[in-house]
Amino acid sequence: MLQQTQVSRVIGPWQKFLTKFPTPSACANAPLSTVVRSWSGLGYPRRAKALHDAAIMIRDDFGGEVPGEVDQLRRLPGVGEYTAHAIASFSFARPVAVLDTNVGRILSRALANRTLTASEARTMAKEVMGRGNSARFNQSMLDLGAQFCRAAPRCDICPVAGNCKWNLVGGADPAPRSAAVSRAQTPYVGSDRQLRGQVIAQLGNGARTKRQLFSALDGIDASRCDDILGGLVSDGLVQLRGRVVQLAGD
Ligand code: SF4
Repeated sequence: MLQQTQVSRVIGPWQKFLTKFPTPSACANAPLSTVVRSWSGLGYPRRAKALHDAAIMIRDDFGGEVPGEVDQLRRLPGVGEYTAHAIASFSFARPVAVLDTNVGRILSRALANRTLTASEARTMAKEVMGRGNSARFNQSMLDLGAQFCRAAPRCDICPVAGNCKWNLVGGADPAPRSAAVSRAQTPYVGSDRQLRGQVIAQLGNGARTKRQLFSALDGIDASRCDDILGGLVSDGLVQLRGRVVQLAGD
């Protein structure tokens, strides 16, 4: 829920989601359409499907318990390198380093002062973590990145400024093209992401004919609506029954 989404937008839906689905099995046992409706307002509905698929795998393959090892977590739909390492460290105290955009910026600026490849960044993240409490270390790195080593860095008040290579040596900012550092997002308004969210929101109120659905998406031409709908169908979020469109699982 938190990927590319502000905490303030996530808190409400997160609490409601956990009340409705207190365990992975509760989520797995619900129809996909119920899970997608509970995701309403968060955008990226494909993640709701990935979460539902992951809950089914946890129920069926892991006895209903979230696994604690990175390689097991990576098998879950929608769980990438970052999420697997974050869960293993924060929830299971495994000695693994978390590498996200914040950490990627710190490594390339403070330690390397050059752009890093993915394997260099992973190796460096592991080496700098050492053997102590991985959760505390990883949280410190995430906070350092979020509070100080941002895309526009706040070096004047940064607590590690005296040890930061880029700050001491200078030169072009190495972070933007370095591994794990995400690129700026395209604007949300008018994007396919926004339109996909609008289609899901419409169908959350019940099945629609294509004509009804497209007329509710005021001002969007029919061929673009068709493309968006086709994408949602191939993602398994929406199903077509003749002319009727509905959330998968309804
Ligand atoms: S001194 Fe600046 S570049 Fe270096 S870690 Fe701190 S915020 Fe990042």
